Amino acid sequence: MNTQNLAYSDEVAKATAPIFDKLSKQIEKERWESIAPYIFEINRLKKEKNAVILAHNYMTPDIFFGVGDVVGDSLMLAQRAAQSDADIIVQCGVHFMAETSKILCPDKKVLMPDLNAGCSLAESITASDVRKLKEKHPNIPVVTYVNTSAEVKAESDICCTSSNALKIINALGAQGHDKVIMTPDMYLAQNVAAQTDVKVIIWEGSCIVHERFTPQDIIDARKTYDDIVVLAHPECPPDVMAEADYSGSTAQMDNYIKEKQPARAMLMTECSMSDNIAAANPDVEMIGTCQICPFMKRITLPKILKALQNEDPEIIIDPEISARAKVAVDKMLELS
Ligand code: SF4
Repeated sequence: MNTQNLAYSDEVAKATAPIFDKLSKQIEKERWESIAPYIFEINRLKKEKNAVILAHNYMTPDIFFGVGDVVGDSLMLAQRAAQSDADIIVQCGVHFMAETSKILCPDKKVLMPDLNAGCSLAESITASDVRKLKEKHPNIPVVTYVNTSAEVKAESDICCTSSNALKIINALGAQGHDKVIMTPDMYLAQNVAAQTDVKVIIWEGSCIVHERFTPQDIIDARKTYDDIVVLAHPECPPDVMAEADYSGSTAQMDNYIKEKQPARAMLMTECSMSDNIAAANPDVEMIGTCQICPFMKRITLPKILKALQNEDPEIIIDPEISARAKVAVDKMLELS
């Protein structure tokens, strides 16, 4: 990697000062001086190359606030990427998200700073598993969470996100389907199944971050802070959801805090999401607990800079698989 421009010069300090103001509670000045040159150089290079950086809510604050052009949850990132006139997309998130961007933007170059940034949900199921499920349960639609590979999406009838899963299942119910197969997150499927008359056939995948939370985490926090508002992501087990005050997708939790501004809140989700919400909502006190996603944390500023400089690693998907996967994604957009 070319590191000749990575000094903390006056120019870098001035250009990055507004970002540091926002993050000064999270990043001490000494560390900032080693981070800021990367932010400056990445932002310079993305203008030069007409690139856009998509940063998921689980990215660390230096990435989320420092270099992210579009920030949000996975589907929102991909949809906004499709509307952009950038030539290059740098996906700061995990591999399936970069694939979704490529599916929706087949003509753009999609870069993934670390190809090993995977996901336990995406890895829990293969295209062959979906084909076997369809053989076992013929004529039952397969609803697949966006946290899956392009090959799995291509074998599915329709995709869903954590925010629209219930709506999609009910829409299929209204079309006369009394049963659906839902992959790969068993907890999201159980949480949805509890709210619908449609029978849900469940695949036993899970998110290694959200499955670690327990109802006791919430009970303990309430003992210390009786005014705490607890928000849980639907990838958490149902007993955690039952104990929480609000359940919602990444985007829904973000909006809840923005709109309601509770004095204290605790998010049952990934740690960087809490850090990013704390930086954006200084009047809300964010209380731990949180869990780190090791896959998301593979994405760092040096890797983003290297990917932009070398325009590599690039996401390539077989066009036939991409086209079939897009049918499932488009069907979701239509039904939701
Ligand atoms: S938080 Fe869970 S669902 Fe998201 S990338 Fe990490 S393992 Fe996958």
